Amino acid sequence: MDFDSAVIPAVQRAAAAAVFVFAAATPFIAAAEVVSPVLLINDDAATAKVTVQKLRGNVSVLMGSGGNIAVYTGPTAKLMVDAGIAVSRPRVEPAVDSTGAVPVKFLINTHYHWDHTDGNAWVLQKGATIIAHENTLKRLTSGTRVIEWGFFFPASPPDALPTIVVGKEKTMEFEGETIVMKHYGAGHTDTDLSVYFKNADVLHVGDIWWNGHYPFLDNGSGGSIDGLIHWVNECIKASGPNTIIIPGHGDVSDRAGFTEFRDMLVAIRNNVAKLKRGGKTLAETVAAKPTAAFDKKYGDFLISPAFFIQLVYMGV
Ligand SMILES: [Zn+2]
Repeated sequence: MDFDSAVIPAVQRAAAAAVFVFAAATPFIAAAEVVSPVLLINDDAATAKVTVQKLRGNVSVLMGSGGNIAVYTGPTAKLMVDAGIAVSRPRVEPAVDSTGAVPVKFLINTHYHWDHTDGNAWVLQKGATIIAHENTLKRLTSGTRVIEWGFFFPASPPDALPTIVVGKEKTMEFEGETIVMKHYGAGHTDTDLSVYFKNADVLHVGDIWWNGHYPFLDNGSGGSIDGLIHWVNECIKASGPNTIIIPGHGDVSDRAGFTEFRDMLVAIRNNVAKLKRGGKTLAETVAAKPTAAFDKKYGDFLISPAFFIQLVYMGV
């Protein structure tokens, strides 16, 4: 099964539905909340407009196809960070082209999730080399089941895989810019890389930050609330007051915004841990509303308060 299928295959929809029927049978998740986020994101990407926003130092951000895409445009070549969802190619490709008439030479994946890597195949076909964390290569090679999404992400076609892998850190000089990739251990997944454009002072943190939304925690792939908080703290340490920070989802912001997100994570983590340590079941923990103070600001996107509590509960 091709990873870059334009439409989620019917069998996947059926499998997702089956898993979420099971989830719906549990008392703490309402039926309205059991549609796989994968299907919602993919459907949205099929028609979503892709916008281009110039940031600083020849770095632009493209929004509208799954995760936010960064493009650095040098004098003779470009570098992309993430490739979005394949079904958005007709809108992503012209948006990338609009940043300058030079080819894409490198594509860095912030992590393995399909809303950041599904476009790998077409970017590679156009001549780019893909760079990713070593665990991204492993997960794209084997395929990964994400239980909480009720979804199996099949392996990438062998000719669409990353060919340069990063362990803890990699720095590269590219077309007048210094690009620093870092891996601080498991966070959102066990495949995460941050990408820092040093001269421009622009940092892409991938899904370590969902700006204005509760984030997904891929517990089954090494992610956890504590890993995520560790990552956010490391990225905040690596930022200055003027650093432009690109989140995986949501608007571009800065260190102050990222710090506010961190404080929300810590508060909810502590609330949920206290309830769990006190012997509360997941259903009882959800009923105690440990996210209540933050739901208005963060709870209206793909990850509902109840789903986020479940993701946090699994990791504390
Ligand atoms: Zn992700």
